[in-house]
Amino acid sequence: MTKKTILIAGGAGYIGSHMNLAAHERGYSTVVYDNLVYGHKNAVQWGDFVLGDIADAGQLHLAFRHFQPDAVMHFAACTYVGESVTDPEKYYLNNVATTLNILRVMREVGCRNFIFSSTCATYGVPRQFLIDEEYPQTPVNPYGKSKLMVENVLADYATAFDLRHVNLRYFNAAGADTQARIGEDHNPETHLIPLVLDATAGRRPHVSIFGTDYDTPDGTCIRDYIHVDDLAEAHLLALEYLFDGGESESFNLGNGQGYSVKEVIDCARKVSGQEIAVVESQRRAGDPPVLVGNAEKAARVLGWRPAMPRLEDIVGTAWTWHKKRFCEKI
Ligand code: UDP
Repeated sequence: MTKKTILIAGGAGYIGSHMNLAAHERGYSTVVYDNLVYGHKNAVQWGDFVLGDIADAGQLHLAFRHFQPDAVMHFAACTYVGESVTDPEKYYLNNVATTLNILRVMREVGCRNFIFSSTCATYGVPRQFLIDEEYPQTPVNPYGKSKLMVENVLADYATAFDLRHVNLRYFNAAGADTQARIGEDHNPETHLIPLVLDATAGRRPHVSIFGTDYDTPDGTCIRDYIHVDDLAEAHLLALEYLFDGGESESFNLGNGQGYSVKEVIDCARKVSGQEIAVVESQRRAGDPPVLVGNAEKAARVLGWRPAMPRLEDIVGTAWTWHKKRFCEKI
């Protein structure tokens, strides 16, 4: 049997590159399509690579004709919440308009399976602890709104055209490949765990805690951290679900367990054996106090069970990668 081919838009980025590795190890052919604005060429160590922009429908069309993918996984997006507030046009162009290009080219060439990187940011500021997929989607910033717009487009396309999709709403992606071949490397970096590890490694003087007066047990924000390899596994299961004829669906991807900012920092101290300087600072605008996902639907329908739910393992893989990448001597 010939291998099925997946086109991974944004496959040189953090989650996309772990996806490419997981798909490769599962026996798929992969084509990473990435403009390398945020992604890294050295993260694309498997499959084919096309240096291209999803804004360029002509180049996309050529890539689809050449590689004839059976499915698309779409990770190419801008993801900075704060920036989305000050420059919403960038988010609606890069996250919504360019996705329409991909969908049009898919229809032109008859590719019918689409896995979309959505986000818990589509839920806005939830009023309950565990959020399931039925929780109302009322995003509070242009980033979350842009992702919800694409979910809505996909629903309409599933009705009008022969194009099925799975929306995967990630909670907080974290961790790195267990062999430290690839990991998290954003520029600029805004995420808690890599920033804590930078402070651990002496690459930053300290880590700031954004708000200590939230209505949570220790006053800091609580998030649901999910290992990037567990996310990748969920994509593979979603893909098999579509290949087996499954209907278009949405799934939360989280561990259903929340950790505060202080707990994450303590965990990094334990994992690394290093002291970490902390500065307590103001709340960051737009941060919900608690975001924890109920992923029972992904367990029930896809058979997804995260293999690395322990925060120590998530932070531990990130720390191993961080040392290799930035400070081999530690
Ligand atoms: N956070 C923090 N200091 C930082 C970066 C993040 O206290 O330097 C907090 C942030 O306010 C949030 C949590 O850590 O409550 C996770 O933030 P991150 O940016 O990693 O992910 P988000 O939840 O925003 O997607």
